[in-house]
Amino acid sequence: MITKRLETGADNYRKSVKTAAEILKAGGTVAIPTETVYGLAASALDENAVKKIFEAKGRPQDNPLIVHIADISELDGVAREIPEAAYTAAERFWPGPLTMILRRGGKIPACVSAGLDTVAVRMPSDSTARDIIRESGLPLAAPSANTSGKPSPTSARYVLDDLDGKIDAVVIGGECSVGVESTVITLCTDPPRILRPGAVTPEQLKTVFPDIKVDKAVLSEPTKGAKVASPGMKYKHYAPKTETYLVEGTTEKFTEFVNSKQNAAAICFSEDSGRIKVKKLCYGTAEDESTLAHEVFSALREADGLGVSEIYVHAPSKTGVGLAVYNRLIRAAAFRVIKL
Ligand code: AMP
Ligand code: MG
Repeated sequence: MITKRLETGADNYRKSVKTAAEILKAGGTVAIPTETVYGLAASALDENAVKKIFEAKGRPQDNPLIVHIADISELDGVAREIPEAAYTAAERFWPGPLTMILRRGGKIPACVSAGLDTVAVRMPSDSTARDIIRESGLPLAAPSANTSGKPSPTSARYVLDDLDGKIDAVVIGGECSVGVESTVITLCTDPPRILRPGAVTPEQLKTVFPDIKVDKAVLSEPTKGAKVASPGMKYKHYAPKTETYLVEGTTEKFTEFVNSKQNAAAICFSEDSGRIKVKKLCYGTAEDESTLAHEVFSALREADGLGVSEIYVHAPSKTGVGLAVYNRLIRAAAFRVIKL
């Protein structure tokens, strides 16, 4: 299959949105930019189209997809028995990087949710994503547009590195502004729980859900065979091909540690940079978790090109968006954390 490139410059934007919508209505797959990461979209109403997402990504069949909508009126039918708190949260955080898990509505085939009775729903803030959803007139199932297990794609180039020839089209937008996937919360438990951290932080969520809890799978390795609330959290994920370790410690300790390694590279903070003698990639300043979120996945992808046998990543703080960055890195490192 030849993957169409749909450009989004001023002169071809409308045409690309229309072409993307036509492909989606015909049951095809299109990678689209969103504010979190690029998503691989298909009609959430079409079982056959949804199957193509799982195939192109090599995604395990038991890992459910997020359904994307462009207007709150589309929630009805996608979900059912929607609690009042969902509308309050939608008013506060939508459009934006928050996914809510609700009871699955009659419109959505079971395969979207990997057979679960629940469904994950989000309204993206990215204007291209919203224009494509509107133009197609469909709710769109869209997981991250990467090969399953690899770092999520934050630019169209990374989508093509993984999926060129396996999907019908990619919409070439800019870099994703947030850089990590949405915060996922479930409203199907009491109290509600954060299953995956993202740019909408626990502190912000507490303004709507005072008793919300962070699920223990966010920061710890699930035990083998245990039932996890969010199937996606049980896989090794976001990982470069090179062996990766997450390292906690001060600038002094981190730089001394990586400098003692042979054939290793560091993914570090700008504060560390001057003292590092091995190959390095900076992913921002330790002081600003939003920049770290923006850069973390491209750093993990680029690190594979450095030709080393080990990658050591300086761990961010777990506060604010830092919790999301830490959550992705601990999985990229297959839960190997070195505390200095
Ligand atoms: P991705 O679309 O690649 O960002 O991954 C979606 C994430 O949301 C995965 O971690 C899924 O396991 C999780 N998810 C989606 N739908 C559900 C659901 N119905 N219940 C629990 N987790 C879900
Ligand atoms: Mg993903």
